Amino acid sequence: MKFQPRASHFIDGEYVEDTNGAAIEVIYPATGEVIARLHSATPAIVEQALNSAKNAQAAWVALSGTERGRILRRASDIMRERNYDLSVLETHDTGKPIQETTVADATSGADALEYFGGLAASLTGEHIPLGGGDFVYTICEALGVCVGIGAWNYPTQIACWKGAPALACGNTMVFKPSETTPLSALKVAEILVEAGAPKGVYNVIQGYGDVGASLVSDPRVAKVSLTGSVPTGRKVYAAAADGMKHVTMELGGKSPMIVFDDADIENAVSGAILGNFYSSGQVCSNGTRVFVQKGIKEAFLKRLSERLAHAKIGDPMDEDVSFGPMVSENQMNIALGYIEKGKAEGARLVYGGERIERDGYFVQPTVFADVTDNMTIAREEIFGPVMSVLDFETEEEVMARANDTEFGLAAGVFTNDLTRAHRIVAGFEAGTCYINTYNLAPVEAPFGGSKMSGVGRENSKLAINHFSEMKTVYVSMNDVEAPY
Ligand code: NDP
Repeated sequence: MKFQPRASHFIDGEYVEDTNGAAIEVIYPATGEVIARLHSATPAIVEQALNSAKNAQAAWVALSGTERGRILRRASDIMRERNYDLSVLETHDTGKPIQETTVADATSGADALEYFGGLAASLTGEHIPLGGGDFVYTICEALGVCVGIGAWNYPTQIACWKGAPALACGNTMVFKPSETTPLSALKVAEILVEAGAPKGVYNVIQGYGDVGASLVSDPRVAKVSLTGSVPTGRKVYAAAADGMKHVTMELGGKSPMIVFDDADIENAVSGAILGNFYSSGQVCSNGTRVFVQKGIKEAFLKRLSERLAHAKIGDPMDEDVSFGPMVSENQMNIALGYIEKGKAEGARLVYGGERIERDGYFVQPTVFADVTDNMTIAREEIFGPVMSVLDFETEEEVMARANDTEFGLAAGVFTNDLTRAHRIVAGFEAGTCYINTYNLAPVEAPFGGSKMSGVGRENSKLAINHFSEMKTVYVSMNDVEAPY
């Protein structure tokens, strides 16, 4: 098999296998073909990985930030040099078109390694003068062993978004990818070693949810960073709380995108396409509730349908293809189930709405109009190529409806009225907001959700706070006064 890795796990700088672990079949979503066979981590593998990370941490944190940063930046360079090969692997792991993976996966992973590599040397505390010559200084300390657990939509990116800030701060990591897409995180681990990371600094072990759960509850682990669904987030957060561990939770969403009638329709349609159909809709921050002001609704829908007809659906390895399969049969069936619910609950099907008759797990880009707030497709995260278009009349009305959800990951507004745009984003209950654009996630900007969509932020300087803690040191230059 062309994509078979040397072994299932990467621990202490080497590939490691334990065939006693449950089988994991890696399937190319465009054909259904098995492209690799791996094994889930056994308790012995989990133990080996945690020991390795624990043992490696003292020497890693003892390097200067400059030295750690240099290794991360070298890893970033290697990732960029191998972007095409890594993208081919990612396309086979996830089914996403090569047109996307060459610009959004290894490249964004490399951005994170470069950015946090650059920050590593400047992670310092501060000096705080007190009265009488006394002072306080603070030390930015690593947390220790961090666990990263990933979803299947952006496997390389997630492995790096968690690994890069963790390592920059002097932590070590055990990363568990989703068993649906286990291949590319192994490449990240290989590249880090090649770039000079000492063995054990970044380990990858495979497994189902039980492996993730055993990592989260281990007392050696100081921090857990999860990208996944809200139900998993709840479980992982609760388990981490038991050990008072630090957490970052990047969870699901049902984000609103509001299009006012003064918006540039072409841009709004582009935003809605990017925010619903990129990666076949499997993006956490997607703006799946598109509120369109009544005056432009039909024009918006017409232009959207015209533009969707230009989506090139097919073999994701074809560079002209812009829309690929869903990641798995299971995920496809979930999306098809929601499409049926949309039809049954009375939404107007404007575009798509069917499985595509070919090998693999293809679902048509699907648009429902006349969706109302209580329909299932407007309330639950679908994580597939299904857009709901809802009508609205006034700003006040749409603001309340946009926020009427348990989620708070992202939100966007299209309008040419500058003050209205800022008023709307001030009112959004969401961690990541967009004005006249959608779904950007550059490493320089904080990314994350509020409400049930998560805790903490990834990327930007803020991520450092989530992978380090401050030690406060009081220094007296005077005698110690005591009452007796
Ligand atoms: P899941 O929540 O099903 O799984 C996420 C990860 O957690 C997987 O690696 C999973 O392993 C693991 N896991 C499952 N149960 C446990 C447990 N009890 N303890 C520890 N780990 C566990 O999410 P999906 O993989 O299906 O990904 C889709 C979800 O991720 C969507 O809700 C999406 O919105 C969200 N997401 C959020 C992003 C963000 O940045 N906010 C970005 C991308 C996705 P296994 O797969 O083996 O069960």
